[in-house]
Amino acid sequence: MKRPWLAVAATRVCVAATLSALSCVPAAAQRIDYSKLEIKTTDLGRGVYLLAWQGGDSLILVGDDGVLLVDTSVAPMGDKIKAAIAKVSNKPIKLIINTHAHADHFGANEALAKSSASIVAHDKLRERMAKGFTAFNQAIPPSPPAALPTVTYADAMTLHFDGETVQLFHPPNAHTDSDTLVHFKRANVIHASGTIGGDGGYPFFDMGSGGSLAGMIVAEDKMLSLSDDKTRIVADEGEPASTATLKASRDMLVALRARVQKLIDDGKSEDEVVAAKPTKDFDDKFVHQGNFVTGDAMTRLAYQSLKGVTPPATPRR
Ligand SMILES: [Zn+2]
Repeated sequence: MKRPWLAVAATRVCVAATLSALSCVPAAAQRIDYSKLEIKTTDLGRGVYLLAWQGGDSLILVGDDGVLLVDTSVAPMGDKIKAAIAKVSNKPIKLIINTHAHADHFGANEALAKSSASIVAHDKLRERMAKGFTAFNQAIPPSPPAALPTVTYADAMTLHFDGETVQLFHPPNAHTDSDTLVHFKRANVIHASGTIGGDGGYPFFDMGSGGSLAGMIVAEDKMLSLSDDKTRIVADEGEPASTATLKASRDMLVALRARVQKLIDDGKSEDEVVAAKPTKDFDDKFVHQGNFVTGDAMTRLAYQSLKGVTPPATPRR
């Protein structure tokens, strides 16, 4: 399914543009009319449902006593997330997991937690939310206390919720520096916290938020270690990926890392590395309509990450 350019995608284009040293239009997200977005609910089995809205897609686990929600979406989508949950369960939201420090994953925390749900996240996500931070050239103000995670962890955590075992893993410096991979063991579903691309496209990592190529490979390896041939892996948008799609992404990243590193070792500049087209044989598979990461953008991301280039300044506005 092809998706129109929407809030999150639009702000991400901004980052890709910055990578190309082009000017960035940070107000892109404001053009989005959230009232027109609809949530598509998909039953993934064993009480787990995907709530897809073309941004940071959410998952819910529905139990006899309540609902576990992974990612609350942006603030203007909170009521729609609530309504989508109500169509599946009349139980209260008891537990919220925020996967990472992009606003489409925690923006509606306050409205959905309502002071009664516990909010679980990685230590660094709480830290960022408490202080306020900048992502995609947009200033995210400090979150109100009611929106902040109430339970945080450093490396891994296991939650037991209505017969399901929910494993949380933190891959350091992957899509961001605050990622949580969420593994529903019984349902055989993983939320990838942005560490795979939507609809099998190139994945994106946000170096301005602590992401890195090496961390992405570690994250994808970790998810492969948890997967079998029936696992569904949830990206930020698009249909859930298969293990084969995840493996193709991981193999591409490993190959790209080796190719770009060799070009760097040969003394090539960033533009020369891009001109060498190290993604050429991957582009047909990983670039498609609606995927904002082109082969050249992927190459620049890889180059900058391997060189340890400081990401472009993202001043607070
Ligand atoms: Zn993200």
